[in-house]
Amino acid sequence: MLIVTAHPDDETGFAASVYKITHDLKGKVDLALVTNGEAGFKYSTLAEDIYGAELTDEAVGRELLPTIRKREIMAGGKIIGIRNYYFFDQKDTHYTLDHDTVLTQVWNVKWVREKLKELILREKYDYIFCLLPTPETHGHHKAATILALQTLSELALLKNVLSSSDVLFLKRQTLQSQF
Ligand SMILES: [Zn+2]
Repeated sequence: MLIVTAHPDDETGFAASVYKITHDLKGKVDLALVTNGEAGFKYSTLAEDIYGAELTDEAVGRELLPTIRKREIMAGGKIIGIRNYYFFDQKDTHYTLDHDTVLTQVWNVKWVREKLKELILREKYDYIFCLLPTPETHGHHKAATILALQTLSELALLKNVLSSSDVLFLKRQTLQSQF
């Protein structure tokens, strides 16, 4: 299974499902992360003491958070059982509900779709998990899900789209599900 999300921590919204898949069902889970998470400086007050840096200062946060958040996501991923990480390091500009701007002006969407395509074809995932792109969701969450959907439909591999309250499950066309 592949998780496609925008920020380093979006996967925590369905961490229990990932844990179940990797531990109880012996599934393999990889994570493709679109942004570097640098806009998290606004929410880093509690982390300042831990890391001994003024992370809520925009310049400091934008410089240090990409590395810190990669380390954090990998530490959490060790517990829930994530196998491989694919960091696409696109810019995490700011909070917005607008997915269009990020897709047309900020991220290199052609490059991201190409990377996703390579991964999906190489690893033959049965499922892709994304955040449900509801209107009130962060524009980056919506945009990451749109890129996953576009890639699968470009490959003509999208069989089924299922959703829970906040997760979208995309089932791949040609493989039999083992779940
Ligand atoms: Zn997020």
